[in-house]
Amino acid sequence: MNNKIVITCAVTGAETTKAHNPALPVTPTEIADAAYDAWQAGAAVLHLHVRDEHGKPTQALAVFKEAIERVRRKCDIVIETTTGGAVGMTPEERLQPVTLEPEMASLDCGTVNFGDEYLVNTLPIMREFAREMAARKVRPTLECFDLGHVFASHILIKEGLVAAPFHYGLVLNVPSAAKYELDVLEFFVRKLPQGAFWTAMGIGGKANLDAIYGAIALGGNLRVGFEDNIYYSKGRLAASNAELVERAARIAKDCGREIARPDDVREMLQLRKNG
Ligand code: ZN
Repeated sequence: MNNKIVITCAVTGAETTKAHNPALPVTPTEIADAAYDAWQAGAAVLHLHVRDEHGKPTQALAVFKEAIERVRRKCDIVIETTTGGAVGMTPEERLQPVTLEPEMASLDCGTVNFGDEYLVNTLPIMREFAREMAARKVRPTLECFDLGHVFASHILIKEGLVAAPFHYGLVLNVPSAAKYELDVLEFFVRKLPQGAFWTAMGIGGKANLDAIYGAIALGGNLRVGFEDNIYYSKGRLAASNAELVERAARIAKDCGREIARPDDVREMLQLRKNG
């Protein structure tokens, strides 16, 4: 088994605000600084959402372009843009950042309840996203919030819309979707295609930390960052995204794993050259 573990940092997300955690990076400059600090702390992948001038989630190309350029000027972290966007966005809006040809992009594998709201991902939407990513050689992270999403991903693979090596994002503990529990994670992992890479994404402080240990035990990769969790411990806000990356890296190293660098991820997931 590959001894290297990949840490993804989701620095901003769509739901977190500065009122939740004042250290949330919002502008392209803040996002690039946070990505750089996370990279220095051990993150190999940046999961990227951007915000407009009012701090609201946007899929606007100009903002993504600026953020990507600023990050690339500072470090070689692999950039994974979101196509989940935010609740209420159209599929066309959500897909836009893929046209900038990032190395990776998230691809939500099904409709999901999101607290009181919901994100719609029908099979035709998923096929369109997968086709666009394949045409542009963008590696999808197949995000699964519920078990049915894993089986939906099998349909995309069977139809030839997603090719190996596969990378899954198992998003657990979104309120009203699948909960994070070790046996739930283990069951999801058992249903992935042979040889698939996967990253556990526990939502909320406790689930996020538990998922780090769960992913290490089951051979997966880690995701931390303010999109998923704003706390370092119960009642204590994380000082920065990098602080969460540092802890994840420390835990992985204590478990005898090496921390993957961006070029390791490029090799593992066979990412397009000069992404
Ligand atoms: Zn996201």
